[in-house]
Formats: sequence, C-alpha cells, structure tokens
Amino acid sequence: MAEIQPVNPKEDYDPKQDPNCIACLDKGFVRLVEVMGGDHSIVQAARVSYGKGTKSVRADRALIHYLMQNRHTTPFEMVEFKFHCRMPIFVARQWIRHRTANVNEVSGRYSILEESFWEPTPEELRRQSGTNRQGSTGEHLEGKTAEKIAKEFREEQKNLYQQYESYLGAGVAREIARTNLPLSLYTEWYWKIDLHNLLHFLSLRMDAHAQKEIRIFAEAMAVFVKKQCPIAWEAFEEHVLKASHLSGSERQILSEVIRDNDLWKKIESARVEQLKQEEATTTRIQRELDDLKLRLLGP
Ligand SMILES: Cc1cc2nc3c(=O)[nH]c(=O)nc-3n(C[C@H](O)[C@H](O)[C@H](O)COP(=O)(O)OP(=O)(O)OC[C@H]3O[C@@H](n4cnc5c(N)ncnc54)[C@H](O)[C@@H]3O)c2cc1C
Repeated sequence: MAEIQPVNPKEDYDPKQDPNCIACLDKGFVRLVEVMGGDHSIVQAARVSYGKGTKSVRADRALIHYLMQNRHTTPFEMVEFKFHCRMPIFVARQWIRHRTANVNEVSGRYSILEESFWEPTPEELRRQSGTNRQGSTGEHLEGKTAEKIAKEFREEQKNLYQQYESYLGAGVAREIARTNLPLSLYTEWYWKIDLHNLLHFLSLRMDAHAQKEIRIFAEAMAVFVKKQCPIAWEAFEEHVLKASHLSGSERQILSEVIRDNDLWKKIESARVEQLKQEEATTTRIQRELDDLKLRLLGP
C-alpha cells in the first residue's frame, strides 16, 4: 500500500501565485474553486414567474435591491460558491456552526497532520475585554511579556507536535495521536454554499462582534462575492451591512422624537432627493416612503 503523505497544501497552493487565493493569517487562505451564476442568475430566477427574462441593467439592479430589502431570499440561492480554505481549528470551530454549507475537511484519522500552527505575533495577543465577556479590546499586550508569551506559544506548539510524532512512531493510531494537538493547528476544507447563506455568514462573521481571526476569512470571501455579484453585493451593503435594526423600545423613542419635533417632512424630502438621484420611478419613491414611514413611525 502506498505511504500516506503528510498534508502539505503550501506546496500546491501558493497564495501569492494564485489570483483566486487570498492569504489569511500567517498560513491560511481562502481560495475560490468554482462559482455557479452571478447577478444575472438572481434576476433570472426572480423573473421566472413572468417569463420575461432579463430587462435593462437599471431594472435588474432595482429588482436585486428590492429582493434584498424585502428579504425575498430564494433568488439569491441560485448562485453557488465553492471555496478551498485553510484556517486554524479555533476559526474552523466557529465557521462550522454555519450549517447551510456543504463541507469536506481534511481527515486527521487518514492523514498525518502537518506541523502548521497559527503563531500569534505579540501584536495579536489582544487583551480580554472588561465589558464583553466574549471579546477582546483593541489593545494588545506589549513589551517583554508579549514577546515571552508569543515565544511560549511557539515552543508549546513545537512540543505538542513532537509528542504527536512520537505517539505515531510508537504505533498509536492517527485518530488517537492527534487528540492532544491544540486549537491553533491549521486544518483545511472545501466549503460550498449558496449566495443567500453566504451573505448570512458574512453578515455575522464580518460584524465587529465576530472574532477578528474569522473576520479576516470572511472579508477574503467577500472580495470574491463582490467581484462575482457586484449588484447583489451593493444591495447587501445597502440593506444589511450598513443598515441597522432597532428594538421595539428603541423605535418608540425614535418615533416620539420625530413626531414631537415634526421631523417627518424633513426626512421625507431628504429621502425623495436621494431616490431622485438614483432615478427612481414615482411608484418606487412612493413605495419607499410608505415603507420608511412605517419603519420609523409604526402603523
Ligand atoms: C458573534 C457570535 C458569537 C457567537 N457565540 C456563540 C457561543 O457563545 N456559543 C455557541 O454555541 N454559538 C455561538 N455562536 C454561533 C451562533 O449561535 C450560530 O450557531 C452561528 O452564528 C450560525 O448561525 P446560523 O444558525 O444562523 O447559521 P446557519 O447554520 O448557516 O443557518 C442559517 C439559517 O438557517 C436556518 N437553519 C439552519 N439549520 C437549522 C435548523 N436545524 N433548524 C432550524 N433552522 C435552521 C436558521 O434560520 C439559520 O439562521 C456565535 C456566533 C456569532 C456570530
């Protein structure tokens, strides 16, 4: 039987050489493998009930914005992305929670895992946040302490990998020997997902509340989405990324302030001005105003 080789994607995939590969963290990457569809597929699916196909670019753009704004999600499922990604296990554990993707990961039962760890630099040793139990501050440890800890990370990783190799050498099965390897070890997978669920993933993982290390991978994927589906991306930015959600109590305050100060007329004319610049039709302007009024002031 042929000898099983350690997995070494670095030999095959050099991020600097591959235009479809974006380097992430010290040894990770997001590589676009295949795409099915684009903005045209969203429009095509949305218009199927009318049998009219694609109209002008302006009409297609307005339609994609309308779908995104009104959460008519299924047309976005017509576009598919397949990525090959390499990330530390602690990133993969957050990523895998997104159940709507199809995943195939390297097997530590089958392959000898490569000695490849995320090695944080002193600047990457962020301080624990005092207000958010799940997050870190923008500040990091400094000076000798930071350098000492970063060095200890590397030494621990080296020791654990040496132990792993010695267990394999002693005949321990790969599936057992790997179990003492740390979360900083790199893993990799193929990850296929439709655009609707990918945008959901990006909305959660590009958000400031997500851990910085997974955000880096999400931002890399966003580069490909933006290139492949520029109008859908623009709509996503407008109606999801840059939009905000208010709670019932927050909206109550806002609507009271608008009513008490007679602000609706001002808001209305400013919004009409924006829509006119977008060359919106009269019907669209009216629909958008009705909708905005409802969202700001309630029924
Ligand atoms: C900042 C942040 C912090 C987090 N902290 C924690 C934490 O402390 N602990 C923890 O366990 N998780 C945590 N998570 C993970 C989080 O709870 C979700 O599991 C993860 O974000 C995936 O979201 P999702 O289920 O919407 O995505 P997906 O799995 O991609 O699902 C997309 C959508 O499909 C639907 N769906 C998918 N599967 C089902 C199903 N089986 N049943 C019903 N509907 C389904 C849902 O509408 C869902 O929103 C965190 C996530 C973020 C972004």
